[in-house]
Amino acid sequence: MNDAPELCFGLSPEQQMLKDTIHNFVERECPKTLAREWEAGKEFPAELYRRLGAAGLYGIGVPEEFGGQGGNIVEQVIVCEELARSLAGLSVLWHLNAWSGSKAISTHGTEAQKQEYLPKIAAGKMLFAFAMTESGGGTDALRAMRTRAEPVDGGFRVNGTKIWSTLSHVADRLLLLTRTEQGEKPSHGLTVLIVDAKSPGITATPIPKLGLRSLGSCEVVFDNVFVPAENVVGEPGTGWAQMVGSLNAERILTAAMCNGMLAGVLEDSVAYAKERFAFGRAIGQYQAIQHKIADMAMNLESARLHTLRAAWLLSKDMPCSVEATTAKCLASEYAVAGADEGIQVLGGNGYADEFNMHRYWRDARLFRIGPITNEMARNQVAESFGLPRSY
Ligand SMILES: Cc1cc2nc3c(=O)[nH]c(=O)nc-3n(C[C@H](O)[C@H](O)[C@H](O)COP(=O)(O)OP(=O)(O)OC[C@H]3O[C@@H](n4cnc5c(N)ncnc54)[C@H](O)[C@@H]3O)c2cc1C
Repeated sequence: MNDAPELCFGLSPEQQMLKDTIHNFVERECPKTLAREWEAGKEFPAELYRRLGAAGLYGIGVPEEFGGQGGNIVEQVIVCEELARSLAGLSVLWHLNAWSGSKAISTHGTEAQKQEYLPKIAAGKMLFAFAMTESGGGTDALRAMRTRAEPVDGGFRVNGTKIWSTLSHVADRLLLLTRTEQGEKPSHGLTVLIVDAKSPGITATPIPKLGLRSLGSCEVVFDNVFVPAENVVGEPGTGWAQMVGSLNAERILTAAMCNGMLAGVLEDSVAYAKERFAFGRAIGQYQAIQHKIADMAMNLESARLHTLRAAWLLSKDMPCSVEATTAKCLASEYAVAGADEGIQVLGGNGYADEFNMHRYWRDARLFRIGPITNEMARNQVAESFGLPRSY
C-alpha cells in the first residue's frame, strides 16, 4: 500500500476547470486590449471591479456560510495567476479585497464583523484597502510606525500618515495597522482597525508611479479620525501577530501574480516571434529569440512548481515560510527578467504603449519590492540555515 503523503504537482480536475473558467472570463471580459486602455487612462477601473464581482470571483476563499464559494490557497493561486496574465492590476484588485480584507476578518474578526463584511466582500459590494506602510520605511515597518489610535469614549481617534496604500482613494473600508499603546517591544501594542474610508479626517492622494497605473497607491492622512470600538479586528495589541500569520499566503499569492504576468509575457513573445519577419524569416526561427522564449518557459514552470508546492503545504497547515518566501522571490525575478527579454523580442514595439510588454515589465518590477523586498526575502532564507540575523 502506498502511504506516501498526497503530493500536489498538478491541479485536480475541479481546479483545472476553475482555471479554464477564469481564463475564458478574462479573455471575454478583461482582455489585454482593454487592459492597455485602462492602464493608459490611469483611472480606477470601476467597471472591472464590477465585472469581477458579477463573475463571483471575490467569493473564492470566503467561507460558504458567509456567502462565499469556499476554496483554499490553491484555488486562490489559480485566480491570481489567471487574472494577472492579462493585467496585474486585476489580480491586485482581487487580492486586496477578497484576500486581505476577507482573510483578516474571517480569521480574526468577531461574528458581527463576519456577518457584516464577508457577504459584501464576496458579492463585490464592499472594497477593502490595506494600510500598513509609513514613509519611514516598509521593511522595518515596526520601527517606522508613527500612526497612533488613542482610546476615546466609544472607540479611538487616529492620527498619522500611511503611504502606498493601494486603492484607498476608492475603497469603502481600510484595514489599518496602527499603534494603540506603547509596548515593551516595537511589535507590541499594534492593533488592526476596520476604518470607514470616507470618515471625516481622511485624505487619500494617489502617488504618481511606474506601473499598476489604473490602481492608485496613496498617501493617506488620518487627521483625528474616529473609529468605533467594535471595529477592532481581534484583540487590541495583537495586530502584529495577525500580520505575521498572513505572510506566507501573501507571498504565495504574490508569486502567483508574477507567474501570471510571465505567462502573459510568454504568450505575447511567442505570438510575435511567429509573426514578425526579418531577413525573410520569422524571427522565431532565430536561435537567439528561441532561447529567450525557452528561458521564459523554463522559469515559469519552475516558479509555478515552487508556488504550488508552497500553497499545498499551507493548505495542509504545514510549515512553509521558506517555501513561500522562495516562491515570491524567484517568481518576481523571473517575471521581471522575462518581461525585459520580452521587450527585446518585440524590439522597438516592446517599448511602445500599443503593445503589452513594457506594461508587464513596469508592473512586475513592483514585486521585487513589495510586499517584502527580495533582499529581505533572501535574509530570511539564509537565516533558515542557522545563519545569524544580519540586521
Ligand atoms: C506600488 C506600491 C504599492 C504598495 N501597496 C501597499 C499597500 O497597499 N499597503 C501597504 O501597507 N504597503 C504598500 N506598499 C508598500 C510596500 O510594501 C513597501 O514599499 C515595501 O515593504 C518596501 O518598503 P520601502 O519602500 O519603505 O523600502 P525600504 O524598507 O526603505 O527599503 C529600501 C531598501 O533597503 C533594503 N533593506 C532594508 N532593510 C534591509 C535589510 N535588513 N537587509 C537588506 N536590505 C535591506 C530593502 O531591501 C530595499 O532595497 C506598496 C508599495 C508600492 C511601491
